[in-house]
Formats: sequence, structure tokens, C-alpha cells
Amino acid sequence: MTATIGKTTCPYCGVGCGVNLTIPNSSTESVPPVSGDLNHPANFGRLCVKGSSLAQTLQSDDRLLTPIVKGESVSWESAVGTVSDKIAQVVQDHGPDAFAFYLSGQILTEDYYVANKLAKGFIGTANVDTNSRLCMASAVVGYKRAFGSDTVPCNYEDLELCDLLILVGSNAAWTHPILYQRMAAAKKQRPNMKIVVIDPRETATCDIADLHLAIKPGSDAAIFSFLLQHSAQTGILDNDFIAQHTNGFNDALKQANESTPNLVSAAKFSGVSEQALMRLAHWWEQTEKTVTFYSQGVNQSSSGVDKCNAIINCHLATGRIGKEGTGPFSITGQPNAMGGREVGGLANQLAAHMDFATPGAQDLVQRFWQAPNMATENGLKAVDLFQAMEEGKVKVVWIMSTNPMVSLPDTAQVRRALEKCELVIVSDCKAHTDTTALADVLLPATGWSEKDGTVTNSERRISRQRGLLPAPGDAKHDWWAICEVAKKLGFQSAFSYKGVHDIFAEHAALSTFENNGKRDFDIGYFSQISKLEYDGLIPVQWPVPKGKPEGTKRMFEDGRFFTPDGRAKFVPIVPTLPINEPTSEWPFMLNTGRVRDQWHTMTRTGDAALLTKHTDQPYVEIHPKDARQLGIEDKTLVRLTSPYGEALLKAKVSRAISPGNVFAPIHWTQQFSNAAVVSNLIPQVVDPLSGQPESKHAQVKLEAVTEV
Ligand code: SF4
Repeated sequence: MTATIGKTTCPYCGVGCGVNLTIPNSSTESVPPVSGDLNHPANFGRLCVKGSSLAQTLQSDDRLLTPIVKGESVSWESAVGTVSDKIAQVVQDHGPDAFAFYLSGQILTEDYYVANKLAKGFIGTANVDTNSRLCMASAVVGYKRAFGSDTVPCNYEDLELCDLLILVGSNAAWTHPILYQRMAAAKKQRPNMKIVVIDPRETATCDIADLHLAIKPGSDAAIFSFLLQHSAQTGILDNDFIAQHTNGFNDALKQANESTPNLVSAAKFSGVSEQALMRLAHWWEQTEKTVTFYSQGVNQSSSGVDKCNAIINCHLATGRIGKEGTGPFSITGQPNAMGGREVGGLANQLAAHMDFATPGAQDLVQRFWQAPNMATENGLKAVDLFQAMEEGKVKVVWIMSTNPMVSLPDTAQVRRALEKCELVIVSDCKAHTDTTALADVLLPATGWSEKDGTVTNSERRISRQRGLLPAPGDAKHDWWAICEVAKKLGFQSAFSYKGVHDIFAEHAALSTFENNGKRDFDIGYFSQISKLEYDGLIPVQWPVPKGKPEGTKRMFEDGRFFTPDGRAKFVPIVPTLPINEPTSEWPFMLNTGRVRDQWHTMTRTGDAALLTKHTDQPYVEIHPKDARQLGIEDKTLVRLTSPYGEALLKAKVSRAISPGNVFAPIHWTQQFSNAAVVSNLIPQVVDPLSGQPESKHAQVKLEAVTEV
């Protein structure tokens, strides 16, 4: 008998590559268990090292196999009873906002949908936030301010079709490797294509760059403020597009003229040479087909939303949007950060891309869900949520598939919050993470290859993650656990689904309910989807309205946006620097990010021996001049201290970083060594509009460690 091949989607980054998982039918068969799906439009058969090592993560000695309450293994029935009784009690005694979900871009759209429905429609709280807040919340608000909707205009093909590709705050070579490979291949095929990297560090992505602007950390908006001003001065504005499809251009240009009146001021603000900035400006001026690709370096900032709008302004002003090879293109970090956005998985969203502030949306969603206890206003965003927990306002939190003890800023505060919370419920595949250690209730979850549902990648493409392998022990799907608790709380009919396809169909029906073509997110074509059709779902880019099963490759081709008057909006931008700039006491700026072969807090990638070879130790990158002054040698221990905590890391002395700056990867957890947890150092400073933490910029001081 030959092996069975199941098609699914990689669980790591927001590229969303298609994966073939081979399930041998006999132990003697030797077939590669994981390969890239040749037909998936994200990767066409390619996989990066993380994706191709997935088979090594399928067996774990640390699987959570039964529900555990206060340290004792219990039945699901008992655990569901404990959870639902406590939720009912705190809601009765303290109101619905005493409960919160803290979700993850790792869970599937259907999991997100039922969590959001239970909290916002039935318990009555909008306290549903997610670790995606740490990854792309600023991009969401930037799009909404400009387009009236959270809509990514481009697709991956545009990265290959453009003649100028500007990567801002993205080390795609390590964080989105398959997109990087596609960019590199396009550049090889068309050597005249220009690639510019705007990043304080010289990263691996610079290998394919024609120009690297090593900007002062956080100064990105000044570059785009200058490009807007330069576009006007050089006559490359698309005046017809501005007149017919936008509002607010004059105010945005006036601000750009004031903020960055000339090349000298822009170069000075951003810390780059005038020649280098002018080179970018010339290429921008001469190249119609331009894509600006941005990620966490832009988003994880106290002015992340403004940076996004500074980028979008330039594209609107030159009409470089809605056409092949053009557009502002934000890339998400997680496999389903986008799917969470679609169902309302952020505390300020309602459902189906509607917010609490969307006129008529609360009433519409309430009628659709027939919801008895509809939340009426925004809930708490991630950092605020954990602060409210420490203040005793949030008394029950259900954390799903994420490890906030390592990923949220200011670990000491997160610990205090979880210790104060009366009931911490954690759904996870793993028994031991830094967060499960603080849980009162542990619920065993299915993991990748067992979970069944959909994810949406960074180009709006919905793909299936398929349950191909049996769940071990008592592990259950997250959507099932949420529905069991909902039913126990008395909401039987609204949470009695026939299967995961039924949840997807309901989500699709809500997206088209009384829509009248007014919303960007419409997948109404799937509102009657059968189990068979769902099982065979082919990757497709939304919108997929009724009558358009092929989906939508590129947005805004007709120049119509989702604002009330259909026009995109320019936002005047004042470039600013990070809130916590270096001082004499804290003389270094810490930048954080990822290494090539690890993912988040290593709960999965840490199981693959191959993946630890690339970088086996946490480290801090430091410029040779700074290292010399501090008496720090390569590979020796360094103590980093910030006003919030400290970390001990090995020095990596490198010219890739500028003097006065240091870089450390985020992955290592307390299980490796408490001293290696970089989030110890990060302040809970957030963008005021998006609530996204400024994780890329923290003040620190450094000292060589002679004794530990
Ligand atoms: Fe997975 Fe991202 Fe690598 Fe693709 S690029 S295989 S989605 S980690």
C-alpha cells in the first residue's frame, strides 16, 4: 500500500506555505514525511528549514495529555465544570469584564470565531485579545485609517512583478524565508529590479539589497515623509488618482513639508547619509512599479501606526496601489494573525472586520448571533489586559496557544498579573511552558497535523490546516473546548456545531449578512459550505463573495475604498523617535527580533535538533567599538539591565549593528535560563492607537560579566 499524502499549511510564519504531510501506511515505507506543496500559491513547493523540519516536531515527550486542575489530572467533564462554574461566578459577582480570553495567531480561524462569539455575544465582554497584538496591530490601524478597512492590497506575485522593492523593518531572509527566496529569484531573473532595505541593522536580507539604509532606530517615518515631499517636488504625483480617489492630500503634504523640508533634515533625523537617501528618492521617483514591504520593525513601535500611514501616503500620492507590482504590503508574523483579524479576535473588533464603532454593526452581529449579552464597547488590549489582571479587575483569563510569560513585555509584571488572577486557564499542547507553570487549569489541545480548520496568510489567502494525524491522549480541538464551556454556561443552541465546517460556514454567513457590498471582508460564497467541500477547500484569497469563487487577487483596482465616501484618506504624519531613547544612565538602544531557525518561544521548534544548530545560544549583538570600550569580548557573558529587569546573554561582536545599539533574539525562555528572557527588559510602552508594544526599542546598559 502506498503512503497517503495530506495537504495542510505550515504553522509558523505568515507566509502560509502549503505542506504535504506524508502518512506512511507501513513502517517499512521510507518517504519524506514533509514536503512543500507544489500547487500552493504561497510557496509552489518550497519550504524553509523550519517548515521542512516539521516532521521532527511531531513527537514530543512533553505533550499535555489530560486536563489538569490544581495539579490533578481530571476528566474533560470535570475541567469544563471547573472553568464554566468560575466564569459564571465572576460574571455574576463582578460583571462580564472580569473574564478575558488571551488568544494567539497560532489558533485557527474557527477557534477564534467561537471564542469571540462566546465572549462578545454571550458572556458580554470584549476582553478578547491576542498575541497578534504584538505582531501586526499597528498595520491594522494604519490600513483602517487610510482605506476605511483592514485590507492588505497586494499579493505575493507583486513582490516579483515590482521594479523597486523597499523592505522596511523586515529581515525577511530569516523571518519570512520563502518570500525572501521569491524576491531573490525575481531579482536574479531581472537584475535591474532594485531592492532597498531600511533597517537599523545589516541583516541577512541585505544580501540581495542594492541599498541598505541603516536608519536610526525608530526613525522610519521620516524617510517616507521625505519621499512624499520629494514626490511633489519632482512632479511624480498621480494628480488624477489623488483628486478622484482620496481625501486629505494637501494636509499630509503640508505636514511632510514641515517635518522633512529637505534632504538634509530628513537624512539628519533618520541618521543616514544624504547620498544614500537621495539614491532611494531617485529610484522612487523613477519607478512606477514599487512595493513597500513592512513588518515588525515598523509595527512594534510607539508610533507604529503613523509609520504605516507614512508609507501608505506615499503609495496613494503616486497612485501606486491596486495595480500589478505596486502597493504598501504589511506582512504578519504568525500563521493566522490575519484569520484572527477576520473574526474579531482583537479587543477593539466585533466580527467579520466590523468594529464596535462601525455604524449598525453591534445590532447586526447581535441579531445574527441571536446574542443575549452583547458587549457594547472595546475590551482591553494585551498590555492593558495584563495590567487590569494585576489590579484584580480581570479575575479569570483563558490563555490559548501562547506563552505570554516570554512574549509580552515586562515579564515581572506579567508574572504578577497571572499570580493575582483567581483562575488562569491555559490551553496548550505542551505540559511545560513558562505560562503553564502559572496555570490553575491546563487543557490539552490538539497541535499542528491534528488540528482542523483554516488559516489566512499575509496575502489574504485562506488555506486549510488539516487534521491528518490522531490526537494523542485526551487532547481536543480548541473550538471544541470553548463550545463545551459555552454549553455548560447555558448557551447550547448557539454552540452546538456539527463540526468545524459548520463554524466556518457561520463565519462566512456573518461576513455577508446584510452586507450590501459595503464591507471588504466578504466570504459569503462559503456560507453554505458542506463538509465535503470544506475538506477539499483550495487556497483562495478573500474577498470571496457569492458568485466569485475564484476570490480576489488584488484590492482597490477600481480605486474604490471602504470609507463612507469610497475615498482613501491621507494622514498627516509627524515623524517621532522611540519613547525611551538612550540616556546617560541607559546608554544603549536594545532592538529585538528573531533568528532564522527558531519560532516564537521555541515550544515547537525547540523539539527539532536540526533547528538548534543555526543558533544554539541566546546572544546580544554589539558593535566592536562599544565592546572594546566596555571590555566585552566575543562569546563572553554580558549583563543587560533595563529599568524593568535584566538578562545575561553571550556577546556576539559584530559590525552589523551600529554603535550605541544592541540586538537580542526573543526566543529563549525561563526553561533555558531565566536570565536569557529578553522580555524581562522590555517596557510596556505601546502605540496609543494600536496598543502594540514598542518591543523593538528599549533602553539598556551593558556590563561584562566576570562571575555568574
Ligand atoms: Fe513555514 Fe514560513 Fe518557512 Fe513557509 S516561510 S515554510 S510558512 S516558516
